[in-house]
This record gives sequence, structure tokens and C-alpha cells, in this order.
Amino acid sequence: AKQAGRGTFRVFDEATDIHLQSRQKMKSALRAALGQGELSVFYQPLIGLADGRVTACEALMRWHRKGAGWITPDQFIPVAEEAGLIGVMGEWVLHEACAHAARWPDNVSLAVNLSPLQFHGGGLVDVVVSALRASGLPPERLQLEITESVLLDPTDRNITVLQELRAVGVKIVMDDFGTGYSSLGYLRSFPFDKIKVDRSFIRDLPHAREALAILKAVAGLGRSLDMRTTVEGVETQAQLDCAIAEGVDEAQGFFFSRPLPAPAITSFISGRLGR
Ligand code: C2E
Ligand code: CA
Ligand code: CA
Ligand code: CA
Repeated sequence: AKQAGRGTFRVFDEATDIHLQSRQKMKSALRAALGQGELSVFYQPLIGLADGRVTACEALMRWHRKGAGWITPDQFIPVAEEAGLIGVMGEWVLHEACAHAARWPDNVSLAVNLSPLQFHGGGLVDVVVSALRASGLPPERLQLEITESVLLDPTDRNITVLQELRAVGVKIVMDDFGTGYSSLGYLRSFPFDKIKVDRSFIRDLPHAREALAILKAVAGLGRSLDMRTTVEGVETQAQLDCAIAEGVDEAQGFFFSRPLPAPAITSFISGRLGR
């Protein structure tokens, strides 16, 4: 902090400096982590509510940072985006996760999150196709999860990319549904294969009337627009019961399993076969 006229500003500036420094440090550490194999992919199962089997697993990135333990993506994805690293990281996740998923049973799909920034620069379709080819995973077993910020682009370029991905055969999922300003409106701009109701609605179940009304509405919307519906963040039997009562297709959450490393998810899947 320089030339601080008032103590309060001085303190604020120093805090900002420290914040910037640690962000800068995290950026270079993340760059190094990529090369040193400190990143890994965990998987969380999605459970079909009709039969209780694993329908898909969502790939969730983890960073085992030397001296700092496990770091969750909420901390490092924004840094990766800012540092221009999300493109290579996203490509790495696709390849890694498709290779794992190719060894799962045929009826278990893979869900991968895409950052809106991966739509920039134009290589996304090729990256997806090459991950599918290298792994042998059939395109219809890959679900790409996007948030509505991908659809904010007024030129509709990203819609074209989504259509190209759809033509490849992969499924497109709207993630975190209900959190944005006009989630409903975006359903008109692209025919999603699936919508995932945001965790914040599930958290307030079963007692919050508003959350229950929204869940009911989304489940109905899914049925009339021919989209599958998923709830995320299910932690209790009561929350699961709400989802079942509303006719939601799938559920995901700590109630079933936390995100697990690749070998553990394989055991989880086989443990639930034939249920
Ligand atoms: P998301 O896509 O909404 O993923 C779901 C998050 O909810 C995950 O957090 C998961 O661990 C957490 N979760 C699942 N069930 C429960 C539950 O019952 N209770 C609670 N409290 N949490 C639950 P995670 O793994 O920390 O990931 C956070 C976010 O980081 C993800 O949110 C996604 O937006 C982003 N992310 C993760 N991996 C990737 C990736 O490979 N690429 C990109 N672009 N983003 C990623
Ligand atoms: Ca997701
Ligand atoms: Ca989500
Ligand atoms: Ca989320």
C-alpha cells in the first residue's frame, strides 16, 4: 500500500496486495501442477430413481497441492480461468475421464463440466471428438454440463457449437438450473437433453414451500419438454423422497456417495449393479 491517507484504506490496500500475491502464486503453482501430475479427477455417481442403479458419474477435478492438501475446484477453477489455463485443464479432464469411463459398464454415462471459456477460440468440438476417439467411449455416453452463462453470448456462436456437439452425438446438460436471471428463457434457445436443478433448492427441502414448488415445476417442465431431470446435493432421505414424489429422473449427492477416485467409483458402480 502506498501513500495511504487514512488507516482504513491502508489496511484495505495491504489486504488486496496479499490477495493478489496469493492469487499470483496460485497461478504459477497451478501451471506447475499441470506438468507434475498434481491434478486428478474424482467421480460422483448419479442414481436413477426408477431402479436405483448408477446412470452416470460426474467428473470433478481435484488438485493435490504440495504442502496444502486437497484443493477444491471452487478455489482453483476461477484462477485457472483467469490465468488462461482452463482450456488445457479442460482438455486434460476430458481425455482422462473418457479413458476411465470407457471401462465402466455400457449403461453408465460420464458427465463432464465445461467452462464458458472453453467455448472461446473454437477448438472445443475437435477436443471432444479426439477425447472420444482416443478412449473409444461412444459419444452418447458423454454428457457435457454447461451453465447458462454459455448462452449469454449475443452472437449465438455458442449455440452453434452446442449444435455441432449434439451432431457428434454427445448429450448437453443445463447445470445449476434456477440460479441465473432467466434460466427459463434459455430453455427456448437450445433443446437440452437434461436439466440439473441447483443444489440450493434441494438444500431447503423438504420444509421450504418455495423450493418444493420450484422442484415440482422443473420436473413438470422436464416431462413436457422431453428433458431428463436431475437433482444435485441430495444429503437426506427426506430430500430424496421429495425428488421421487415429484417424478425426478435422477439424484446425486452425499446421501449416495461423495466424489470418489477412479478405482473407488468402479467398485461403487459394480456394488449397485442389479439393484
Ligand atoms: P457443480 O458442477 O455444480 O458440481 C457439483 C458440486 O457439488 C461438486 O463440488 C460436488 O462435490 C458438490 N456436491 C455433490 N453432492 C453434494 C452434497 O450432497 N452436498 C454438498 N454440500 N455438496 C455436494 P466440487 O467438486 O467442489 O466442484 C465445484 C464446482 O467446480 C462444480 O460445481 C463445477 O462448477 C466446478 N468444476 C468441478 N470440476 C470441473 C471441471 O473439470 N471443469 C470445470 N470447468 N469446472 C469444474
Ligand atoms: Ca456439474
Ligand atoms: Ca451443478
Ligand atoms: Ca454448482
